[in-house]
Amino acid sequence: MTGAGGKSPTVVKSDAEWRAQLSDLAYRVTRRHATERAFTHDDFPKVAGVFRCVCCGAPLFSQSAKFDSGTGWPSFFAPIEGAEVGTREDRSFFMRRTEVHCARCGAHLGHVFPDGPPPTGLRYCINGVALRFEPEAEGRTEPPGSR
Ligand SMILES: [Zn+2]
Repeated sequence: MTGAGGKSPTVVKSDAEWRAQLSDLAYRVTRRHATERAFTHDDFPKVAGVFRCVCCGAPLFSQSAKFDSGTGWPSFFAPIEGAEVGTREDRSFFMRRTEVHCARCGAHLGHVFPDGPPPTGLRYCINGVALRFEPEAEGRTEPPGSR
């Protein structure tokens, strides 16, 4: 677990650079803490693989930790072991939530809630547009997203 919120990102780009690199929605979610609409980016392939940060490519979540939460957002019960996933308290909207971000580049990913399944009891509720799925198997590499 890399829960320490004090770590500075090691991938730092200007606002203009992120804007040029990302889709409009991905930019707003990862750099402006927006939230995508439910059921818009949860259609990832069900094959084994790794979900990477759409901004910097850091491996964040594994398909094996993904579960169907019914919320319409990709949900995971844990990050990849040793992944650069950071959390910090989010008091916006007068609620106490725990915000989840990529510790490598500071990208906002979503929130984590304490109502997930075993073994962790956590539910990482992540914006699909903040993730890039990379299937484990070689061959048919069909880049997702960018649609
Ligand atoms: Zn990142």
